[in-house]
Amino acid sequence: MSVRSGSCACGELKYSVEGEPINTVFCYCKECQTHTGSDKWFGAWFPKDKFKITTGSPSIYTRKGASGKDMNHLFCSHCGVMVAAEVTIGSFYSVGVSTLHEASSLAPSMAIYTASAPSWAVYPEDVPKFDILPPNMGA
Ligand SMILES: [Zn+2]
Ligand SMILES: [Zn+2]
Repeated sequence: MSVRSGSCACGELKYSVEGEPINTVFCYCKECQTHTGSDKWFGAWFPKDKFKITTGSPSIYTRKGASGKDMNHLFCSHCGVMVAAEVTIGSFYSVGVSTLHEASSLAPSMAIYTASAPSWAVYPEDVPKFDILPPNMGA
């Protein structure tokens, strides 16, 4: 089983994920834009028990997702980088692919919340786009 690892910018926070993600998503919601300083967050979704913090202790910022359930953002209190968000309604972590050491080992399979995207957003080719969250995705 493959194990990938990643870290924040300063290295105080390190994590690993095991196996393949259940989904790989470009999320263009307003919250993701704010947190990334970009048009989207590239999240690889891993079941809760496949994500592990291996070094350091993340600071946690909790907000309500579109579902009304908590989203717990895990970020480094030193450099400010968010490495993952726990999506409590789906029992998974949305791991920031940009923080993986091998970010190119994953590609997006869908784009969501594109109705919230800025006019200058860039979309991946050949990937389905959804204005909001597709049904039954639980996030
Ligand atoms: Zn850091
Ligand atoms: Zn989002």
